[in-house]
Amino acid sequence: VSFGYEDVPRDEKVARVGSVFTNVAAKYDLMNDAMSGGMHRLWKDRFVRRVKPRASDQILDMAGGTGDIAFRLAESGASITVADINPAMLEVGMKRAAERGFDELVWTEANAESLTFPDKFFDAYTIAFGIRNVTDIPAALKEAHRVLRRGGRFFCLEFSTTVWPGFSEVYDAYSHKLVPKLGQMLAGDADSYRYLIESIRRFPDMPTFERMIREAGFVETKVEPIMGGLVAIHSGWKI
Ligand code: SAM
Repeated sequence: VSFGYEDVPRDEKVARVGSVFTNVAAKYDLMNDAMSGGMHRLWKDRFVRRVKPRASDQILDMAGGTGDIAFRLAESGASITVADINPAMLEVGMKRAAERGFDELVWTEANAESLTFPDKFFDAYTIAFGIRNVTDIPAALKEAHRVLRRGGRFFCLEFSTTVWPGFSEVYDAYSHKLVPKLGQMLAGDADSYRYLIESIRRFPDMPTFERMIREAGFVETKVEPIMGGLVAIHSGWKI
C-alpha cells in the first residue's frame, strides 16, 4: 500500500484517514510517547494552559481521539464534549476515561466538517493534532466558528514547519526514516505512520494557516510556535 504521496480524490482521503486511525487506535498512546520522546505531553499541557478552561465553560474537543486533551481540560471542572470521526479512537478514549474516573465527559462520533451541534453553543473549541487529517479544512473552521458563542475561542495544536535553522533537516530525516520503523516495530504498521508524517509535510505553514482561520471569521488570531514551529498553537476569537 502506498498513500499520502499523491493527490487523491476526496472520498479516498476520507477512507484512508479512517483506516489509519482504526489501525493505530490500540497503540496510539504508546506511539505518541515513542515518536515524540514523551514531548507530546508537554505540548498538550502547554496547549491546555493557553486555553485556560473555567468550570463554567462548555468546551468542544474536536478530533479528541483517545481523550488526552479532554482529560486535561476536564480537570478545571469544565463540561467537555469529545467529538471524533473514528469510533475505534473514541472507544479507547472511553475506556481510558472510565479507568481515570472522568465520568462526566460526553463522547460523540462526528465529522469536523459538518457538525450537528446548534449555533453559538460552546465557549471554546479545541482541536489537537486533528485538523491536518480533515479533508476540507475551511469547512471545519467554518463549523468551529458557527458552534462557538460570541466571545468564544478557537484553539488548534498542530505540527507545523519549524524555522529553526538546521532543525528541519534533522527532523525530516528522523521523521521519514525512523517514524515508519517505529510504527512497524511497535504497532506492526509502517504505512499508517508514513501517512501521518506525510500529512505533516503537506500542512500549510503558520502564516497560511492563520490566514485560513481569519477567513473563517475569527479575529485577534495568534500563533504561538513551539520549538521554532515544529508544533504551533493557533488561536482566534469569535466576536
Ligand atoms: N486530539 C487527540 C490527541 O491530541 O491525542 C487525537 C489526535 S489524532 C492524531 C487525530 C484524530 O483526528 C483521530 O482520532 C481521527 O479519527 C480524527 N479525525 C480525523 N479526521 C476527522 C474529521 N474529519 N472529523 C473529526 N475527527 C477527525
